[in-house]
Amino acid sequence: MNEVISETELPTIKAYLRWQLVSSLAGTILPKALDDERFDFGGRKLVGIPEQEPRWKRCVESTDGALPEALGKVYVEQQFPVASKEKALQMIHDVEAAMDRDIDSLDWMSATTKTRAKEKLHLIANKVGYPDKWRDYSKLEIVRGDAFGNNLRAAEFESRRQLAKIGKPVDREEWTTSAPTVNAFYRVSMNDINFPAGVLQPPFFDATQPDAVNYGHIGLFMGHEITHGFDDQGRQFDGHGNLEDWWTKEDEHRFTQKAECIVDEYAQFSVGDTKLNGKLTLGENTADNGGLRLVYMAFLARAVQEGIDLKKRSVDGYTPVQQMFLGFAQNWCSQWRPELERLVATTDPHSPSRFRANGVLVNTPEFGEAFGCKVGQPMSPAKACRVW
Ligand SMILES: [Zn+2]
Repeated sequence: MNEVISETELPTIKAYLRWQLVSSLAGTILPKALDDERFDFGGRKLVGIPEQEPRWKRCVESTDGALPEALGKVYVEQQFPVASKEKALQMIHDVEAAMDRDIDSLDWMSATTKTRAKEKLHLIANKVGYPDKWRDYSKLEIVRGDAFGNNLRAAEFESRRQLAKIGKPVDREEWTTSAPTVNAFYRVSMNDINFPAGVLQPPFFDATQPDAVNYGHIGLFMGHEITHGFDDQGRQFDGHGNLEDWWTKEDEHRFTQKAECIVDEYAQFSVGDTKLNGKLTLGENTADNGGLRLVYMAFLARAVQEGIDLKKRSVDGYTPVQQMFLGFAQNWCSQWRPELERLVATTDPHSPSRFRANGVLVNTPEFGEAFGCKVGQPMSPAKACRVW
């Protein structure tokens, strides 16, 4: 950043900042001509979207950005019953218990590093649904009919809130995402996993559907986020979120070798003539692969506990384990425009969806077994990668 600033002429920096300001306010707040211009570049040219989303959707998003916890409170009251929170927490505990057993079973990790890994695992904070305490917006003035002013005041409120944190202890209870957000994530510096109420909804999660489907769907992400604490980046931090090397030299070496296998595997995948970047996507791919293994273990343990008959087929003819794998694959059902797939392949640490399904399943012999594939068939290769 400092380099760019010192090498760039002042008028260019001014133009850039002016453009940032206009561009950030253009969606739904500034007149249509500016909004159209912003969409033409950021939507149409860059990712190939033919038309803007309806205005009401963009307005809801804008409110979610400006008043995340005011909107979130109403959303949770209407869309997230207590039963959902309880079920999601039970699943997370199942996946954490699976990780504990997984660490025990590793033949490449020393007892010393295993102890430290478990320490970190047990310190993960599980944030599910919504914050325990809602943010107070009483100091923020909202004026009906003044979208522009409301937007600026909300931005000012937020930056004051951020600045007020300086010099104070870290608030581990704070949520950085709104409850309706359809996303899940892990934060290295907090060592927490976050599952807002928005992602704990069908089709990812439904407290009334069979365990097999829930574990394959949202359970995968529970395993994925927990594994992030132990991927190539996460493993460099301790259970309190501090950058600290807790690995023995030998274990670190063996980890890196295992990770190399994943780097090479994904570097073989391509979209059009663009190859995936195996190093850029390593953390996410490690989390995808570890996530499926953990949730598979968690589901089998849950099945024993609930007395689920693993031989009994569903009405449409699938065993519970097959249903779990189908649920996993359905997470990645999507349609991509070539422009977006190319952009993701070159810049996103996540692999494009189809590789998040097949790239993981070829490393999971249990998938081949469940569907009767013979070793050596395309989805059941003899050589598989495994880190966790
Ligand atoms: Zn991830």
